[in-house]
Amino acid sequence: MPGLDDLYREIILDHYRSPRHRGELESPPARMAEGHNPLCGDEITIYIDVDDAVSPAVVRDIKVSGQGCSISQSSASMMSQAVIGKTLPEVTALVRRFKSMLSLDTDIEPTPEEEAALVADANNPHPLGDLEALQGVVKFPVRIKCATLAWNTLIQALDN
Ligand code: ZN
Repeated sequence: MPGLDDLYREIILDHYRSPRHRGELESPPARMAEGHNPLCGDEITIYIDVDDAVSPAVVRDIKVSGQGCSISQSSASMMSQAVIGKTLPEVTALVRRFKSMLSLDTDIEPTPEEEAALVADANNPHPLGDLEALQGVVKFPVRIKCATLAWNTLIQALDN
């Protein structure tokens, strides 16, 4: 995409060409949700295996399948990389941080656990890691739906 920083474009293309955690999990037991962005034709299916036996629950495994533009697919790949091994409050805190990077409303008050997770990585200069590469899409409002599709689908899967 023209207008994106070269380094960021490289990161996005790397995830697009070599998507992480690609595939499927048996569902159930894995929770699953399908997301669709009709504006662009992007499709994403998320399979997430949550270990409920520990408290707080932890994302044991995640797989992503689907097709679509480089922004939607690379965002899904980066998301899978970012949430695996995290606790659910950490995942929700990450969703919140990602959406606020894209200037999207996160007007729901964080729970104390999410607040703690946000504070815990406040000293991390790059709490979003590769996901920071997507901050350039703020300049392209129509692509924001591409960037957030995987995240909204993730929330849906966790609610299932
Ligand atoms: Zn798209």
